[in-house]
Amino acid sequence: MKLQAPSHEEHAMPVDLRMTPQRSVVHEVLRSSFDHPTATEVFLRSKDRMSTISLATVYNCLDALIEHGLIRQVNVDRDSSRFCANLNDHVHFHCEQCGVMMDADPIEKLDVTKFWKLPQGCQVTEPAIAIRGLCPTCVDKNQKVASR
Ligand SMILES: [Zn+2]
Ligand SMILES: [Zn+2]
Repeated sequence: MKLQAPSHEEHAMPVDLRMTPQRSVVHEVLRSSFDHPTATEVFLRSKDRMSTISLATVYNCLDALIEHGLIRQVNVDRDSSRFCANLNDHVHFHCEQCGVMMDADPIEKLDVTKFWKLPQGCQVTEPAIAIRGLCPTCVDKNQKVASR
């Protein structure tokens, strides 16, 4: 009998990552945030859970979590880096008006090599694709302004 492969929904903690209380707090903050906060925002939210945590510690925790693949760093232009704990394949939708960043799940299993011709021999480690536009709130707002 074959063993069932573990589900990809729950990501096991990497064995070599020491989950300090601070790292847990930062990870939890990101797992419960869907707006891709910046380091400063992660710091402010972490402070609600652990009042003694410092911004420098938050930066260190973010680095450790990225290094162990528990979170991803997302950069758009020259804005501050944002962070994402959604490890499923997804791309980011970025609203040009209010700056919100949302997750967009692929409709089919994401295979970037199907859509873009990569230089021969390249291996994809992270298909970081950003889609720009206006979020529903901004579309709504603009329509209201236009109809005034
Ligand atoms: Zn918007
Ligand atoms: Zn994301």
